Amino acid sequence: MAELAFFSGTMDCGKSTLALQIQHNRSARGLLGMIFTRNDRAGVGRISSRLGLIAEATETDEGFDFHAHLVRHLTAGGRVDYVIADEAQFLSPRQVDQLARVVDDLGIDVFAFGITTDFRTKLFPGSQRLIELADRVEVLQVEALCWCGARATHNARTVGGRMVVEGAQVVIGDVSGGPDSPRGEVGYEVLCRRHHRRRLTAATAGAGQLSPDVLPTEGVPRQHS
Ligand SMILES: [Zn+2]
Repeated sequence: MAELAFFSGTMDCGKSTLALQIQHNRSARGLLGMIFTRNDRAGVGRISSRLGLIAEATETDEGFDFHAHLVRHLTAGGRVDYVIADEAQFLSPRQVDQLARVVDDLGIDVFAFGITTDFRTKLFPGSQRLIELADRVEVLQVEALCWCGARATHNARTVGGRMVVEGAQVVIGDVSGGPDSPRGEVGYEVLCRRHHRRRLTAATAGAGQLSPDVLPTEGVPRQHS
């Protein structure tokens, strides 16, 4: 029985590494995969992991139809044993429905990998639909750590090193961002919930430079940009 599996977690939790591992293991057994991605940090048509592995992938956009694409490929005599969809948080709910049809109608395993929630702690629509439809949801437990050492469970967006909670849901930025990010540059950082709530990034918490208006407040401190 083919299945739709969703591997989810924060940024930095090793999703793309696992995607590439699955791809490697299956191709070593002679299986043929079709790999899709969107907005990967390595550039268009690539899937990359923080550990430096890279594979070719088909870049998708909003108009892309997974089911139709697979049907065309199979009809033309192509072979596909499994599908990997990386950066699946960026998929539309409709595209996730198409992936479910690939599993049910074509009998092909689909492994989707994505970040669960955005920088405001809200579910990405693609991830929400995957949680609703997947046969199996795996939360990856590769320990991504907050700067304080606690488990990082939330994604923060930073601009020039400072955490922001407003803006478009999808803005591609430098995931290695932080203290050294140039002013105005968008970056991302994983934090524990406590520090996400307090908007304390590594940069703003760094080296005893806690500003008194940020530390012990319960509510959300005002940001000065
Ligand atoms: Zn923390």
